[in-house]
Amino acid sequence: MLLPEKTLVSARQWDAHDPLNAFREQFKIPKVNNEPILYFTGNSLGLQPADVESAIQLELEDWGRYGVEGHFHARHPWYSYHERLAPGAASITGSRLEEVVLMNQLTSNLHFLLISFYRPKGKRVKVLMEHSPFPSDRYAMASHVALHGLDPKESIVEMQPREGEHTLRTDDILGKIHELGDELALVLFGGVNYYTGQAFNMEAITAKAHEVGAVAGFDLAHAVGNIPLRLHDWEVDFACWCTYKYLNSGPGSVGGAFVHERHHKTDLPRLAGWWGHDKKTRFQMGPDFHPIPTAEGWQVSNAPVFNMVIHGIALAQFVQAGMDRLRTKSLQLTGYMEAIIDEINDKHLADLRIITPRDPAQRGCQLSIVAPVKGKTIYNRLTERAVSVDWREPSVIRMAPVPMYNSFEDVFRFGEILKECLGVKA
Ligand SMILES: *Cc1c(COP(=O)(O)O)cnc(C)c1O
Repeated sequence: MLLPEKTLVSARQWDAHDPLNAFREQFKIPKVNNEPILYFTGNSLGLQPADVESAIQLELEDWGRYGVEGHFHARHPWYSYHERLAPGAASITGSRLEEVVLMNQLTSNLHFLLISFYRPKGKRVKVLMEHSPFPSDRYAMASHVALHGLDPKESIVEMQPREGEHTLRTDDILGKIHELGDELALVLFGGVNYYTGQAFNMEAITAKAHEVGAVAGFDLAHAVGNIPLRLHDWEVDFACWCTYKYLNSGPGSVGGAFVHERHHKTDLPRLAGWWGHDKKTRFQMGPDFHPIPTAEGWQVSNAPVFNMVIHGIALAQFVQAGMDRLRTKSLQLTGYMEAIIDEINDKHLADLRIITPRDPAQRGCQLSIVAPVKGKTIYNRLTERAVSVDWREPSVIRMAPVPMYNSFEDVFRFGEILKECLGVKA
């Protein structure tokens, strides 16, 4: 892959030719001493799109002007507000319009979907998860296993990497699914693991799960807005995501859910609420629940409009930038950061171990680094120098140059500061 040279001039040239360069101006970048910081934590909380304030102001005005009538008479009626977001969400997840819905938050959506898609029966009770899944996913899954009267210790299998390795090999995952065979009820993986940054082969995992008669679901918290997704074509059964990481929609913003269309017409059990009820008869307030025959049928509550306002702005940017162009730039930015770290290791005998897969097809933009010596100190020094990266116990520094607003210059500067933090001479 062609990358900038490791000079400020070259990095700036690449920025000048970057077709997505203008998006950076559309974000509020936190400042220290009046200088924008180097923000590489968009994998944790994306930056604020500049248009958010005026868009929220508009809804506040309409609320003030119309009161309850705003549900139907606001400039963007709140009654159907979530429908405005479906096209963007479908576009970045590779889904059909009817397969996506914005509702609740991530872990709540996982719970709602597990009610429908984790249906242990006979000896088919097991769940396969990746090693070190995000704790919330593990807690959620274990609680469902327990609700079915089963023991999470026996029924949840966490796929471990090989001795001395940090990430999982696709063949090993597929082998494990095959081995669990008719005992396997569900494969629940992250699309991209939050700790290592490994992107899993969702298509192959789904196909294998189906081959043995199991269901495949994914938590896309670190995948959505980061890597290209084709949920419909991959025949993924269900997925959920949050919108405050790569999707820049603000702390605790509304979550997303995907249910493949082949599950829409079934009478899958679910936790019901009035917002999932058939729209034509919802306001007849009848006693029986008739679900909308799309992903919207999993909704329980009416739309959190203020969160959705932000998400709408953020999604529009993604649609405008296009996942293809974002991915192209992402491969370059992350490749550049990787090359800079490799050079620091080579030239200055540093020992920064990138545990994220070296194969770009198996990662998004995040790089996770283990520094066996003084990892936490290096992290603290970076932070003191206004570089926003994060530390995840037990031993990882995570950094994500995101293509929407990070520049090649950001990555170059990061390398210079990292050298200072390591105490090496430039
Ligand atoms: C960020 C993240 C969460 C957070 O869950 P919330 O319900 O949004 O608080 C859950 N799972 C994964 C994999 C995550 O990366």
